[in-house]
Amino acid sequence: MKESRRIAQLPESATLGLAARAADMREQGIDVLSMAVGEPDFRAPETARQTAMTAIGGEVKYTHASGNASLRQALARHLNETRGLEIGPEGIVVGHSCKHVLSSALLALVENGDEVLLPTPTWNSYDAMVDLADGTPVHVAPRADLSPDLDAIAGAIGPRTKGILFSTPANPSGYVWSRAELTTLMGLAEEHDLWVISDEIYRRLVHEGEPFCSPASLSPAAAARTVIVDGASKSYAMTGYRIGYMAGPANIASGIGRLQSQTTGCPNSISQAAYESVLATEPPEVASMAEQFNTRRLRLLDGLEGIGLNCPRPRGAFYAFPDVASLIDERGSAGFCADLLESQALALVPGTVFGLEGHVRMSYALSIDRIDEAVHRLGTFLKTRS
Ligand code: GLU
Repeated sequence: MKESRRIAQLPESATLGLAARAADMREQGIDVLSMAVGEPDFRAPETARQTAMTAIGGEVKYTHASGNASLRQALARHLNETRGLEIGPEGIVVGHSCKHVLSSALLALVENGDEVLLPTPTWNSYDAMVDLADGTPVHVAPRADLSPDLDAIAGAIGPRTKGILFSTPANPSGYVWSRAELTTLMGLAEEHDLWVISDEIYRRLVHEGEPFCSPASLSPAAAARTVIVDGASKSYAMTGYRIGYMAGPANIASGIGRLQSQTTGCPNSISQAAYESVLATEPPEVASMAEQFNTRRLRLLDGLEGIGLNCPRPRGAFYAFPDVASLIDERGSAGFCADLLESQALALVPGTVFGLEGHVRMSYALSIDRIDEAVHRLGTFLKTRS
C-alpha cells in the first residue's frame, strides 16, 4: 500500500531531526554539543509548574475546542496590553502549540495553488505547512544585512499571492522588523488584499534597539488582515507543555475553532491552566531568562568575531546566523555542518534549511560555558577549512 503524496514528499523537520541525531550521538557516549534546536534550557516558571501539578490532580476533561473561555479572556487582555489590540475571546483560538495554530491558520486561509510569500531566511517548517495546505511557498531573498527586501517582496506579489508569513524577532536570523518596515509591508498588503501572518513567538526576546512591533498594532485596518501566532514555548521556557494561540479576525478564529473541534477536540487542559497562570502575572523568571539570553548573545557574538566569522547582528530571539559563504565547498552549508558534526561534535543547522545558502544557524539557548566551548570547537574546525 502506498502512502499519500502529501506524506511521501513531506520532509522531517530539519531542526528536530538534527536534535534527534545529536541525542543519538550522546547516547553513543559522544560529547556532542548541540546548537541545533531552539529550545530554552531553563525550567518553566515555578507558577506554571505548580499550577500544572494542581490541574492534573483535578478535573482533566475536554475543554471548549478553541480553549477555555478564561484563558482566551486572559489572552485578549494580554494582546491589549502588549499589542494595543481591541480583541475579544471570539478572535482567539488556543491550540497545542504555536506550530499547531499556524498550520491551522494556513488551512483556514490558503486555497489550492495560492502563493504565500516567505521572506528568507525563513523558518524551516513554514514551507512544509504551506505545502500541506496545498499552497505554494514563494521565497523572497533578503538584503545583505538579512533585513527584509521590501522592493523584492513587492515584486514577488502576483495574482495568486494570498499572503505573507514571517517571524519577528526572526528565526533563524534574530532580525526584528522595524515599525517602518511593517508599515510599508502593510501598505502592500492593503493594496493587493493580502493576509499577513505574523509569528510572534519570540516577541519577549528583543535585546537591543527599536522595540518589538506587531503588524496588527499599526491600525484597526491592519489588524483586520493580520493573524498573530504566539505561545508559551520560548518566552516562558514551556516547550514541552505544547500550548499556543492564534489571534485574528473572528471568522478565521471561528473556522480554526471548528477545525480543531474535528481534528483534535481541544488543547491539553493542564497546559491551558499553566499558561493562564503565567499570563495572570508575569513570573519573575521571565525577565531573568531574557537577560541571560542577552548575555549569551553578546558572548557568542564576541566569540564569533574572535574566530573571524562575520555575523549580521541578531537583535532578538536566541539565534545567530553567521556567514560561512567563503568556507563552504560544493556541498554547501549542509556539507559544512555535516563535517563540523563529524569532526568536532558540534551541531549547527545549515542555512539551506531556512532558504538561504551561505549561513549556518546557532541557537545560543545554552550556558555560557557551552557557548564558549562551541566557539572553541568552531574555531578549531575553521582552521582546518582555511
Ligand atoms: N522552533 C525551534 C527551532 O527552530 C524548535 C524546533 C521546531 O519546532 O522545529 O529550532
